[in-house]
Amino acid sequence: MTDFIYSQPVKIYFGTGKRKELGAVLSELGIRRCVLVCGHHFLPEAEKLRNSESRICAVFSGVEQNPQLSGAIETVALAREFQADAVIGIGGGSAIDTAKFAAATALGDGDLLDYYHGNLAFPTERLTIIAMPTTAGTGSEVTQVSVISHGKEKRTINNPAFMPRAAIVDPELTISVPPRTTMNTGLDAMAHALEGYWSKNHQPISDLMAIEAVKTILQNLETAFRNGEDKEAREKMAYASLLGGLSFALPKTAASHACSYPLSEDYHLPHGEACAFTLDSFVHINADERLESLCRAVGLSGTDELAERIAGLKELGGLRARLSDLGEVDLDKLCHDCAVHPLMNNNPVRMDEQALREMFEALK
Ligand code: NAD
Repeated sequence: MTDFIYSQPVKIYFGTGKRKELGAVLSELGIRRCVLVCGHHFLPEAEKLRNSESRICAVFSGVEQNPQLSGAIETVALAREFQADAVIGIGGGSAIDTAKFAAATALGDGDLLDYYHGNLAFPTERLTIIAMPTTAGTGSEVTQVSVISHGKEKRTINNPAFMPRAAIVDPELTISVPPRTTMNTGLDAMAHALEGYWSKNHQPISDLMAIEAVKTILQNLETAFRNGEDKEAREKMAYASLLGGLSFALPKTAASHACSYPLSEDYHLPHGEACAFTLDSFVHINADERLESLCRAVGLSGTDELAERIAGLKELGGLRARLSDLGEVDLDKLCHDCAVHPLMNNNPVRMDEQALREMFEALK
């Protein structure tokens, strides 16, 4: 066996109703004042939470999909005004990543744009991060990643400063996710598991979680999509999303995520849909004995069936899957931008612009 170093510092509270333990978690962490960050969908709940939990001093509810740096700047202003010692991110990856960026920078005296561009090191002192996912997809609650946009530019920033202290994963929070977002986010979790597994930096403990995540998603995503009220399917998807996050946290993602950035930036696909766009293609491209053994472990005959199942889920969810679905495509730019994305280096099969062109041509 190859040597590995495994580490996972986030305390995870998982289970239906666990959101009600937020107060106990704040006490355990010694939090006195905090800012809550969420998207619009959660605002009514956030107001209720604020009324029942006096340590929540302020709510920033302006998070949009592919969150902008401006949201973190507003959150930092609130954290400073109320002298908060923690930021709670409740929402999909967009809200959690905004909370992470704000918590990591609030105690610094630099411009947030300088931290964003890597011109300034993150401050050594930071606010505590508590993450409560309301989608089953990103796994952001257990990663040291924050994905933030500034204008059209979308950056994945990887820094230990973004690691939450606690993740409260309550599957009931995902019941209200609309079907199409359920499919997008569920396939994002699938991409995390598969890419963590086939990443050049894969390792045994992460592999085990990836296999379990893929199996659980194959068994439950369609049910969660068709019937969002199905508590068991939502519970299993929340678990699979958490496992997906853990399975890519150390190995990092690879080619599908690399391609997702230009697909989101230039063609405005939501993150999960952008990752799913090429995921079945990369199952074929990256097919090898290891991937065949994952397929057998999850009850499939092989990589062809895995690719078919992913394509079937995309079709069921009405996700865009062909270049013609994207409008006018600049194929030269798309292939170039995908090829130069740093995550492409993690893919087990080398994908240069020509190889990417062949893949995208087959999706015409
Ligand atoms: P999202 O957070 O953008 O949410 C998608 C939409 O669903 C939003 O309109 C949101 O308001 C709504 N929504 C969320 N939860 C809901 C609920 N329970 N009920 C009703 N509506 C709800 O989507 P996402 O896929 O969770 O996150 C995507 C973002 O996370 C992207 O920016 C992506 O790059 C990033 N990401 C981060 C990591 C990480 O490790 N930090 C990993 C993967 C992706």
